[in-house]
Amino acid sequence: MGYYPVTGFWVISLHSLLRHWRMALVLAIVAVWSPWSVFVQGPDVGAPPFGVMVLVPTHQRAVALTFDDGPSPRTTTKILSLLMSFHDQATFFILGSQAAKYPKLTQLIVKDGMELGNHTYGHINLTQHSLTQDVADLTRTNHIIQQLTHRTPHWLRPPYGAYSTKVLHAAAECGLHLVLWTPGFVPVENQDPSQLVSNVVKHLAPGEIIPLPESGPRVAEEMGALFILLHDLKTLGYRSVTVSALARMH
Ligand SMILES: [Zn+2]
Repeated sequence: MGYYPVTGFWVISLHSLLRHWRMALVLAIVAVWSPWSVFVQGPDVGAPPFGVMVLVPTHQRAVALTFDDGPSPRTTTKILSLLMSFHDQATFFILGSQAAKYPKLTQLIVKDGMELGNHTYGHINLTQHSLTQDVADLTRTNHIIQQLTHRTPHWLRPPYGAYSTKVLHAAAECGLHLVLWTPGFVPVENQDPSQLVSNVVKHLAPGEIIPLPESGPRVAEEMGALFILLHDLKTLGYRSVTVSALARMH
């Protein structure tokens, strides 16, 4: 675990975790009890990109809402409308296959001031493929995003949160940094939307990275929950920004 001084990310270094596995075990136990106190300042254990961003230490009342697995004709425009009506921003970790299928939606996400991140082409578990295959998948998705939006993605959210040293190498080769989520916000499919909102609000703190489903099964319920979440964030004096904007807030 270490502190990445250039951009102010808290990162977990695999190398460090392996070297200090006892400390990692203790931190894992502590995390269960108090997820917010885990990321304490430690020695810089390695240069980026060999780390995984899970939160950004900041005093500003800002968080990064993130949406995975889109774009989706069922939800993307609804999410965008809600975000814009609250003057909030978010990062969409999209699939290359979905972006190719829905180019206009992909472009709309950028046009509406949001950020796009790479979530692989077809939602593969990157740890189960070779380095070459991972690089090919990530490059393919990066190219689709670049061609459609003229933006270069900087962030990768590996499907299932699955990563290894090899995945970190593959991401680095493609110019991507890994972004997971703040401990305590494990994205669960078919999670009760209202429960998700109350969990977020209960544990709200500056600099958090919050994962939300973009294409869950209960659209109306999820959009209602997103409205309540955005409303509650405002009431508590918080705003949602893109991952890049959050990273600059340290
Ligand atoms: Zn996903």
